[in-house]
Amino acid sequence: MGKEKNERIAQFNNHNSKSIERRIFIENELYKAVKKRDLCLYYQPIVDTKEKKITGFEVLLRWKHKELGMIPPSEFIPIAEDTGLIVEIGKWSMEKACQQLKEWRDKGFRDLKISVNLSIKQFYQHDVVKMITDYLTMYEIPPECFELEFTETVPMYNFEWFLEIIRKLKKLNIGLSIDDFGTGYSSLSYLTKLKLDKIKIDRSFIQNIYLEHDHNVVVKTIIALAQNLKLSIVAEGVEKKEQVFFLNRHHCFQMQGFYFSKPVSSDEAFQLLQNWPEK
Ligand code: C2E
Ligand code: CA
Ligand code: CA
Ligand code: CA
Repeated sequence: MGKEKNERIAQFNNHNSKSIERRIFIENELYKAVKKRDLCLYYQPIVDTKEKKITGFEVLLRWKHKELGMIPPSEFIPIAEDTGLIVEIGKWSMEKACQQLKEWRDKGFRDLKISVNLSIKQFYQHDVVKMITDYLTMYEIPPECFELEFTETVPMYNFEWFLEIIRKLKKLNIGLSIDDFGTGYSSLSYLTKLKLDKIKIDRSFIQNIYLEHDHNVVVKTIIALAQNLKLSIVAEGVEKKEQVFFLNRHHCFQMQGFYFSKPVSSDEAFQLLQNWPEK
């Protein structure tokens, strides 16, 4: 019994020190990756099933490490946030995304929108509003074609400051969405306090459509809530035809998920744009 317990503790410590080691390693590598511009952007289409077209792309960070392979954003973004590296990464990805959108606009896709994830940490950076304004001007992007998505993963510690920035961003006329709606701290109180434009229903609710009746009720209720508040709505993580049918039946037409496409490189994204709809 004692031996078993000791073994388990040893295993736990071993596992723990391994994950701490990995974290420290990743942290160091991330500094280098940012300096060497080893990160890249992928694009996932957001589809309107009624108009049968790609209305925009969500921009997602990717990091391919030469030894570790693909490191998922769920692993390196929290590290980037803790270390403050997110500010530089965010600035770089914002510019890159604007540059990319300009390229597609110049090729004729004038209505296309781009959605960029903004970490709450970036809100506390004093010049985030100016940075966005500058990029929009530099790349001749109409603010209506630019959207920011934010998720609350930690409780807000300076809500007034946050509100102030939201007000400024709204004044610019860019789109503002609540990401992962229904999870974490992305809660109802935001809807009334921040006058946002869009809700993205979290994948976890979409995934269980048809399997669990409770989730169907939640999805239907979120859609109704958005309609009553005159917010637009996007369903995330749509993987199956049944989910598309269900969402359409409830008048949710904007969707994103592997059913349509995984996040892809900019070249592949352009291919998708030209060839849509394929099915
Ligand atoms: P998110 O903003 O909720 O992004 C959607 C995530 O769901 C993406 O994961 C996407 O690949 C995945 N996804 C989309 N459709 C499906 C589907 O049908 N099935 C499944 N199973 N997954 C689907 P990814 O790219 O790994 O990103 C994870 C999270 O990392 C993002 O969640 C976002 O919170 C964060 N992130 C990614 N890029 C950035 C960025 O540039 N800045 C910031 N601040 N956060 C980012
Ligand atoms: Ca997002
Ligand atoms: Ca999301
Ligand atoms: Ca998420």
